[in-house]
Amino acid sequence: PKHHKQALVTGGNRGIGFEIAKGLLAKGYTVTITARSLQQATQAAEELAGPILPMQLDVTDDQAIHQAVATLGQRIGQLDVLINNAGIYPDNGVSILTISRELLETSMNTNAFGAIRMAQACLPLLKQAPNARIINVSSGFGALEDLSATVSSYCQSKLALNGATIMLAQALAADNIAVNALCPGWVRTDMGGSSAPRSPEQGADTAIWLASEAPQQETGKFWRSRQVISF
Ligand code: NDP
Repeated sequence: PKHHKQALVTGGNRGIGFEIAKGLLAKGYTVTITARSLQQATQAAEELAGPILPMQLDVTDDQAIHQAVATLGQRIGQLDVLINNAGIYPDNGVSILTISRELLETSMNTNAFGAIRMAQACLPLLKQAPNARIINVSSGFGALEDLSATVSSYCQSKLALNGATIMLAQALAADNIAVNALCPGWVRTDMGGSSAPRSPEQGADTAIWLASEAPQQETGKFWRSRQVISF
């Protein structure tokens, strides 16, 4: 029987993560979606339908990460794709000159350290897959030339996520695990707001492509609209 590839999408209950899960299901993947609330993950899974498993997971909580991945490991033998999509945008208009340590920590913890800890926890399962991929949903706000002093913790956290992408790609090259970051563009979600030009489906496209179609040797890069962009 055909092996169903396994994917995990953090923050899969709404927005871009929900569309990534939908796209991967359409391509025949079995998908685990995580949300901070089990109820919301379950509701999203019911809406998506198909081979989908909802799980509760806050990416800032190491115990929750450990538990979720252990539970997943009892159900699946290998993980083909990890999509670190969960993210927050808490400081639009907050200057680097006044931002609190608390806000810096919250953004870093969620957007950067959460992705690193997820990669670490999923590694044993990813190593079981022949062509595993880690995909970090980053942002053009994390690109060096587009850093904004008034979106300060978000930009720093995505810059850190991009850095982690390069380091993880380097550390996992010998295991044939590809690690890439992407900017989805400006997307109509709760985060992006209603005036954003891209639909959630368009925002999910590059992540789905990196998960399923991009050549395995592409690693350690930053993408937008299926094209490499500068870090
Ligand atoms: P949404 O706000 O619509 O969704 C964010 C998702 O992340 C939700 O599922 C949310 O879960 C989850 N999340 C937030 N914090 C945590 C946490 N601590 N643990 C687990 N899950 C968490 O945003 P988008 O869909 O727009 O964004 C998805 C990704 O795309 C983000 O990383 C964002 O930075 C990036 N991005 C988005 C852009 C846009 O224009 N929309 C532009 C560039 C990048 P919950 O429901 O529990 O809050």
